[in-house]
Amino acid sequence: MEKIYTIPVNEAYESECECPLCRLRAKAEDDYLEYYLGPSLMEPDTRKITNKTGFCPDHMGKLNRKEAARLGLGLMLHTHLKDYYEDLSGDIKAAAPGKASLLKGRTSDYKAKLNSIADRIDKRTAQCPICERIDYTMDRYMEVIVYLFAHDKDFHTKFENKKAHCLPHTAMLLRMAASKMSQNDASDFVLMLASNNEAAFEKLIKDVEWFTLKFDYRNNDKPWGNSKNAIQRAMRFLSSDRSDFDEKGRKNN
Ligand SMILES: [Zn+2]
Ligand SMILES: [Zn+2]
Repeated sequence: MEKIYTIPVNEAYESECECPLCRLRAKAEDDYLEYYLGPSLMEPDTRKITNKTGFCPDHMGKLNRKEAARLGLGLMLHTHLKDYYEDLSGDIKAAAPGKASLLKGRTSDYKAKLNSIADRIDKRTAQCPICERIDYTMDRYMEVIVYLFAHDKDFHTKFENKKAHCLPHTAMLLRMAASKMSQNDASDFVLMLASNNEAAFEKLIKDVEWFTLKFDYRNNDKPWGNSKNAIQRAMRFLSSDRSDFDEKGRKNN
């Protein structure tokens, strides 16, 4: 097992965070944001890729929020814009149909051309090297988790003591268990995953209910308990939404 993956996995499972995979993802994302705004600018091969693909809306926004790297972002966008311009703008113009006239009548030939240019734009804008690298890294982390679970007693205990995994990451772990684990290991792994998740579900259901009951004036003076941030926790659990976390995966609230 490569240490560059086992060390962060162990650290995430030792930490107090709610979903260790959300924490690993946040860290990987931050590393790649830094990379694309800094070192990658000096690498012609990476520049060729970012000139072609650009970034998804989420990562465009996150690159923009990194104050320290405005020049890097500017340099990257400059060559990216030029690449788009050279690749597409002439073809968009050329796809414009001629006006219908009495002599030539109407035609629908141009429709396929417009759709094909639209497809080309969509294909380019759908690609995001940061998303691709995160997906790759998360797959390696998942492999490490199922491997360590079966072969490393300490990690087995850490996994057992972990509170829960959010639902999207639970789905990823189940897929990894199906593809990489023996039946016996999968039996232990899935039962443990399920019982930790059950406990998390029950707690969230209780906390969110109390959140709603606090709106009843009769409960005005009763304590919030764990319910004050129950809505955020429930959303994170359901969607792994981390928008109220900072880039290091620390809670903002
Ligand atoms: Zn998660
Ligand atoms: Zn992305």
